[in-house]
Amino acid sequence: MQYFSTRGQAPRLGFDDVLLAGLAEDGGLYLPESWPVLSPDTLAGLSGRPYAEVAATVMRPFLAGSCALDALDDLCARAYGRFAHSATCPLVQLEESLWVQELFHGPTLAFKDVALQLLGDLFDHVLSHRDSRITIVGATSGDTGSAAIEACRDRERVDIFILHPKGRTSEVQRRQMTTVDSANVHNIAVEGTFDDCQALVKAMFNDPGFRAEQGLAAVNSINFARILAQTVYYVTAAVALGAPYRPMTFAVPTGNFGNVFAGYAAKRMGVPMERLIVGSNRNDILTRFFETGKMEAREVAPTLSPSMDIQVSSNFERLLHDLLGGSSVELVRVMERFKQAGRFELTPEAVEEARNVFAGARYDDDETLAEIARVWREAGMLLDPHSAIGVAAARKLRLSRAVPVVALATAHPAKFPDAVERATGQRPPLPERLADLYDKAERYEILPNDLAAIQAHVRARSRAR
Ligand SMILES: *Cc1c(COP(=O)(O)O)cnc(C)c1O
Repeated sequence: MQYFSTRGQAPRLGFDDVLLAGLAEDGGLYLPESWPVLSPDTLAGLSGRPYAEVAATVMRPFLAGSCALDALDDLCARAYGRFAHSATCPLVQLEESLWVQELFHGPTLAFKDVALQLLGDLFDHVLSHRDSRITIVGATSGDTGSAAIEACRDRERVDIFILHPKGRTSEVQRRQMTTVDSANVHNIAVEGTFDDCQALVKAMFNDPGFRAEQGLAAVNSINFARILAQTVYYVTAAVALGAPYRPMTFAVPTGNFGNVFAGYAAKRMGVPMERLIVGSNRNDILTRFFETGKMEAREVAPTLSPSMDIQVSSNFERLLHDLLGGSSVELVRVMERFKQAGRFELTPEAVEEARNVFAGARYDDDETLAEIARVWREAGMLLDPHSAIGVAAARKLRLSRAVPVVALATAHPAKFPDAVERATGQRPPLPERLADLYDKAERYEILPNDLAAIQAHVRARSRAR
């Protein structure tokens, strides 16, 4: 399988190179040349199979030509064996025709583990095969960082530097990153917002000398391998609830558009889907786009769902490529306009195409708390603020009760205990395996929002060269 950049100016690459590169050299995002299709028979045969087995089946065609192809079954079994629930991503019924899929049973209690645990194993495999090493640089508004650190800690061929916006992650999220006592793990608290952190990471990748010298690799959701791993739970949920014989709707609490793009990818691969519902908090650039057809960046406002406090959703570029009929030239023009003016508008036809699949709803903090309280009162289930936004959006925008809707629960309630307690009076305890989090020592550096300072810091500490 070959992969191309959305911006059309980078060389086509195979899976292993895409895995290690993350962002394409031209600033674009990699996409597969074609979407392998899961036939109705294949889908029917996946119903009830173990998660790791479905994962290997779904991903195999995308790894054609990869040195990890023969090891894929083992890699999936190892990665998903680290989850605390034997079903990996179990479905829980909340009410008639509405399910919650719990994506938070991995080591850091957030859905990002689902992709990153596998990515850690894939990195290791490909790097040993090539006898080389990498420096991972990533930006996090909370969960990506800890999930990436857990996936890469203590790995011989990887150094990892994670930038987080100082004071803007929850204490649990920060501690999950900063208490990891591994020599190859480096936490940086940047004096700025998540978008600043993301811009710094992009700038490091866009510096060819630095990129080559450090062997930079990304674990942000711009990495196609992450999107790929995330398509799997859409497949397991769909086949559990009736695919290929009837369609599903999914509701996804959305920030960088990575998770919900994986849903779109599953649809492209033949999973019958009626609708993909995007839930946002006050930072509602995507919801506004699906309502108005205008993409317009605004200031980031902090909310109770910090992993969605994002104004520029990088993965949207992958959908945009399709909405523009696959034209890289047109895509570069639109992205350039967005960079200059902070806004762009698509043709009515393109907007219509997007609306045929996607719909968006926004919830402010009070509405989010009210939804957490309602679900606790009516169903006895504790939801974290991100997951509550997904559930609220599912109830609001589902088209009919005849179509099952799955709301993705992206974080464990104990990751956001203050919000949950405010809404319900219940303080969700951390699972046993994380119970000592508040007793461990923290380790991180505070640095200014300055590219040169960050690069010097990375140079001084990575084992590259
Ligand atoms: C990262 C994250 C999101 C947003 O996912 P995207 O792929 O960026 O859209 C939502 N909820 C939680 C808890 C997250 O960690």
